[in-house]
Amino acid sequence: MRSRWTYVAWICVFSLGAFRTFCIPANEVNLLDSRSVMGDLGWVAYPKNGWEEIGEVDENYAPIHTYQVCKVMEHNQNNWLQTNWILTQGAQRVFLELKFTLRDCNSLPGGLGTCKETFNVYYYETNDEERRNIRESQYSKIDTIAADESFTELDLGDRVMKLNTEVRDLGPLTKKGFYLAFQDLGACIALVSVRVFYKKCPFVVRNLALFPDTITGADSSQLLEVSGTCVNNSVADELPRMHCSAEGEWLVPIGRCMCQAGHEEVNGSCQVCKPGFYRSVLESRSCSKCPPRSFSKVEASISCQCEQGYFRTQADPANMACTRPPSAPRNAISNVNETSVFLEWTAPEDTGGRKDVRYNILCSKISTDSGHYEPCGSHVRFLPQRTGLRNTSVMVVDLLAHTNYTFEVEAMNGVSDLTGPPRQYVSLNVTTNQAAPSPITVVKKGKTTKNSITVSWQEPDRPNGIILEYEIKYFEKDQETSYTIIKSKETEVLVDGLKPSSAYIFQIRARTSAGYGGFSRRFEFETSPYLAASSEQGQVPIIAVAVTVGIILIALVTGFLMSGRRCGYSKAKQDPDEEKMHFHNGHIKFPSVRTYIDPHTYEDPNQAVHEFAKEIDVCCITIERVIGAGEFGEVCSGLLRLPGKREIPVAIKTLKAGYTEKQRRDFLGEASIMGQFEHPNIIHLKGVITKSKPVMIITEYMENGSLDTFLKKNDGQFTVIQLVGMLRGIASGMRYLSEMGYVHRDLAARNILVNSNLVCKVSDFGLSRVLEDDPEAAYTTRGGKIPIRWTAPEAIAYRKFTSASDVWSYGIVMWEVMSYGERPYWEMSNQDVIKAVEENYRLPGPMDCPTALYHLMMDCWQKDRNSRPKFEEIVSLLDKLIRNPSSLKGLVNPSNRVSNLLVEQGSPEGCVFRSVEEWLEAIKMGRYTELFMESGYTSLQVVTQMTLEDLRRVGVTLAGHQKKILNSIQEMRVQMMNATMPI
Ligand code: AMP
Repeated sequence: MRSRWTYVAWICVFSLGAFRTFCIPANEVNLLDSRSVMGDLGWVAYPKNGWEEIGEVDENYAPIHTYQVCKVMEHNQNNWLQTNWILTQGAQRVFLELKFTLRDCNSLPGGLGTCKETFNVYYYETNDEERRNIRESQYSKIDTIAADESFTELDLGDRVMKLNTEVRDLGPLTKKGFYLAFQDLGACIALVSVRVFYKKCPFVVRNLALFPDTITGADSSQLLEVSGTCVNNSVADELPRMHCSAEGEWLVPIGRCMCQAGHEEVNGSCQVCKPGFYRSVLESRSCSKCPPRSFSKVEASISCQCEQGYFRTQADPANMACTRPPSAPRNAISNVNETSVFLEWTAPEDTGGRKDVRYNILCSKISTDSGHYEPCGSHVRFLPQRTGLRNTSVMVVDLLAHTNYTFEVEAMNGVSDLTGPPRQYVSLNVTTNQAAPSPITVVKKGKTTKNSITVSWQEPDRPNGIILEYEIKYFEKDQETSYTIIKSKETEVLVDGLKPSSAYIFQIRARTSAGYGGFSRRFEFETSPYLAASSEQGQVPIIAVAVTVGIILIALVTGFLMSGRRCGYSKAKQDPDEEKMHFHNGHIKFPSVRTYIDPHTYEDPNQAVHEFAKEIDVCCITIERVIGAGEFGEVCSGLLRLPGKREIPVAIKTLKAGYTEKQRRDFLGEASIMGQFEHPNIIHLKGVITKSKPVMIITEYMENGSLDTFLKKNDGQFTVIQLVGMLRGIASGMRYLSEMGYVHRDLAARNILVNSNLVCKVSDFGLSRVLEDDPEAAYTTRGGKIPIRWTAPEAIAYRKFTSASDVWSYGIVMWEVMSYGERPYWEMSNQDVIKAVEENYRLPGPMDCPTALYHLMMDCWQKDRNSRPKFEEIVSLLDKLIRNPSSLKGLVNPSNRVSNLLVEQGSPEGCVFRSVEEWLEAIKMGRYTELFMESGYTSLQVVTQMTLEDLRRVGVTLAGHQKKILNSIQEMRVQMMNATMPI
């Protein structure tokens, strides 16, 4: 918006010559002022007797140059008074200010027909001073001047001067100078002063621009556009301008200058910013103090430098404090669900002073080949994304099962890239767990005969681990209730014994250590037609079936006979890569469960070893370091490189020198047992070295060592699902052992080994080692040496070791796992443990233990071994819990855990009473105790099921008592429900 700006000022000049001070407006420049001229003005009068100069002085005795003429009495007057040559000084328009007095003609006596009351003013332009003889005709008239006020005789008498002031302008002037002339044609006139001036717009500094003295234009309405010059240390995009009016006023300023960066505007000039201050161009008009964490050491700084360790991005404004990269994120936690991991963390304690903190996730995993960390690969997906996360959580999906991952959650902000290392991150080690292989999608029919079809398939898209075997289920079309299952390690199998010209349905699934994947869809393949003579067509299948049945019977009988002789190990000789089971209405028709053979049954223990264990050449072994002490010698880690195979890490158990023959037998006995097992949760025997010394047993290497130590070392580090995953593995290994008919006798966390994928494997298969090598084993009254805290009461009491006693031990292992390796029964003596267990006291639920798991433990510790769950049931229960993690949410009341008190078996969880008697006494119904006992209501669990009818039958007949007892029963039910979460 343009504004009108008027500048009015006055300039006063002391004129030495005139001893007077003349003040004129600042926008006027005098070219002539008769009052300020000392001495003779030197103007020329023509005729000589016309205008005459009167030498007068004012009250200060300064001369007053007055010209007068008063020839009112004479006719034909034409008196000229010509000024000196007046230089225009470049002005095109000048002003003439005349001060004069004029006599009123009427005041003159007599008929003065010649008297005039006006005079004329002329000018004549020349470039040079011509001095004299200017002809009248050369003059141009400016105006005829009349007096506003003329004076009379009276006035003269009163000595009152009626001074007139008239101003005229002239122009446009084009020459260097001009003369003025005053023509009198018969007036009585006194010219008191003549001032000639021009107007200018005076020098001014406006909006930091300098505007010079500017002479106004020739025209009275002309506006001269004048450009300003920026003051020192200032600049303008566009030169500022103003307009100089004819009146000498600056009008309409346009644009402005700005102080350069590092300077500020002070009173119309630009001054430097002092050290410690700065000014950048776009910011405030004045210098600002350096923002926090920055400084300026020199004058005129345009920005401040960041202190060491602090930074500023290009986008950061100069008035923003310098910032630094954030500290690492905190409190990172992971939540593993099968092959997905939810990572969550809290923001860094120090955001570096910025609000743009973002997070990146770096994912690496342990390579199965090299054992080193490698990037996770592009198949892993991050939701919503991997980098630039604004929120403090991310979901990572499509990980590999049973794999150790490390996630680094890195905090970054806008200045992180300016700093270089170290990165600020928190890292999380995560082991994925349960994820069965994905279903097989491609199944093909190969060579087909009338009785057989070769079926082949492709590995599942996502094996999620190492495929241990495939299961091929097939049945004749529309005969689904009678199906056959074949197991194979290859991706092709010959299915024989089929009917000619018949359609069969095939479904295949893969198994890894995480379990079975889903079956493939159904594939229908047909056998070739039977080409024999038509008369035989109906007969042959019958004959074939008869022959088959006969063969199977013979095989069974033979097998049975053999098993009698050799403890049923006949199946051990079958093709290890393929097993076949037939099912009818869900029942196995021809089960092929292998049975464990006690190596003691071999007369020559060496034969047993070589039956079940491969002899390894000592050259294939490299021992690296000692990792533990076994009963017979050191346990080392090392490498095994079998010809044509990849080098793998192994554990090497050695038999120390100077052993007895019995020790050698016992030492190798473990290999003879281990060698019979093949299961992902049983430690795997690679072979033995017996042909050189020291004698060695080579097993797979378990990176995390024994479970009890591992848990203690990682107290509180695992999710419940991870812990249950470990327990599931142990239960699965134990199910396998129990199916093989092998009783472990020393199942305890210290005898479970853990690999880098958190897979738990049952180990320690000594022959007599339960009695010998376990430091936990103690001599019982009957002479046996038994790990009391882990052993079922019947095994302690009368050495009744069964799979059911292994289940008891498994319950203790569960307790060890859930309490991260706490010692069962703490520091109680073995004797006290035996007594407490005998009196029905049991370990309390570990802290934060899901109720469902504690119930399972308690079930494993049932006094009656037949009431304990089977390993099969344990595995399926744990699978159910893993599939439905919300069932693990209800936790055992932590108050149970505060003191290390044992709880009574059978007292319902959450119930405050220990027995029926105690309960009846508490509700003042103790009189009915005997009746309850006689009627079989001996436990609180049974009591909680009672109805009014039951009470009547027991003999509670009074309505008030019935009501009281029923109310209390209802209360107990509620307490029990609160303490037990449904599975
Ligand atoms: P053992 O004689 O079987 O009780 O083994 C003694 C110790 O050696 C164990 O407690 C483990 O720490 C370690 N150890 C035994 N076998 C292995 C293995 N296969 N992998 C890793 N460590 C093992």
